[in-house]
Amino acid sequence: MNQRKKYAQRIARERIKILFSLAQERALEGDEELARRYVEHMVNLSKKYNVRIPRDMKRMYCKKCHTFLLPGKTAQVRLKKGKVVIKCLRCGAYKRYVYRK
Ligand SMILES: [Zn+2]
Repeated sequence: MNQRKKYAQRIARERIKILFSLAQERALEGDEELARRYVEHMVNLSKKYNVRIPRDMKRMYCKKCHTFLLPGKTAQVRLKKGKVVIKCLRCGAYKRYVYRK
């Protein structure tokens, strides 16, 4: 990988982090649409520069419609046999992951 690409990826990673916190802020303020746009932007950056979005960030948005998932607001969270089941209340998509203490 050349230096230039590495540099671009580093910038992309930084921007992803920033976009994530912006999305979180907007979602907490109740502006779901704007939060969704930040998440979309984040996902596009990760594809364009081929950088991975950290797993704990990935858990916080719907991969189908990019809604920022807030339990009780935009998401329904259930615990089922040691698994966390999250339902996106906007598009109805589910995501599951293993619950760890
Ligand atoms: Zn969704």
